[in-house]
Amino acid sequence: MLYHNDLDAIVYFQGAAEVAALYYQAFALAQMRLVAEVARRHQAGESENTLYVVSDCDETLLDNSDYNAWLMETGRDYHDTTWNQWCQARRARATPGAVEFCQFVIEHGASMIYVSSRYEVDRQATADNLRALGFPLERAGADASDTQLFLTNMLLNGEKSKKMQQFAYLLQRFGAPPLLQLGDNLSDHEAERYSYKVEASQRKASAERDARRWGEDWIVFPNPIYGAWRSSLKRADGTPASDEQPPAPYQPDPVRPPLQEAPKLSLLSKWTGP
Ligand SMILES: [Mg+2]
Repeated sequence: MLYHNDLDAIVYFQGAAEVAALYYQAFALAQMRLVAEVARRHQAGESENTLYVVSDCDETLLDNSDYNAWLMETGRDYHDTTWNQWCQARRARATPGAVEFCQFVIEHGASMIYVSSRYEVDRQATADNLRALGFPLERAGADASDTQLFLTNMLLNGEKSKKMQQFAYLLQRFGAPPLLQLGDNLSDHEAERYSYKVEASQRKASAERDARRWGEDWIVFPNPIYGAWRSSLKRADGTPASDEQPPAPYQPDPVRPPLQEAPKLSLLSKWTGP
């Protein structure tokens, strides 16, 4: 079972009308939740100061599938070097309905907070890309007490941080949990229990335990491309079926020949590379 080409996932993500519909559906649900909470607070005479929405960026608000199509076509695996080059190129598109949703949040008096696994070194490029697409982002600096953009390795109390610490920080900063958390990977909602390092069956059991939160304060988007879900596929002897050993991660631009010849590639939207 060798899968690094990601062909089906990328064709589905870029080409299926169902994907666009699912994004619109998720944002519509998020809007309904926001409208209901604003109305409730208004009636109860409660302040809206603590009202904020947290969203992941990549494959929630930003579509990076051109990067993945380029990886597939050139036989590359994900690599921090090429990912950084892609981020610097500022070429991500908006996912369907994303810009309108984030504007809706601002218009309804709530704060829009972006929490991304992109790296701190890509702060300017990410802010430029988001703003060029029309996302509301007034404050994108690295000062955690006054920014809308949280990135991996940004300093929190002098230490490099990731999503888990950033969620805790936001809880303190706003004095309340976010009204909504949006993400395409469940670690966008709860970083520890839904880490990619957690066994697939345990992640699924957690999703069942959290059943009441999906569609309530946790809104999920469909992304088949990254492929961590493949770890659930096992051989009869219990070993993972998607056991292809990735090349050493920190050699520059690991390249392997594509595994499938794919005439459908001409349909894909692709990056041409750095
Ligand atoms: Mg994401």
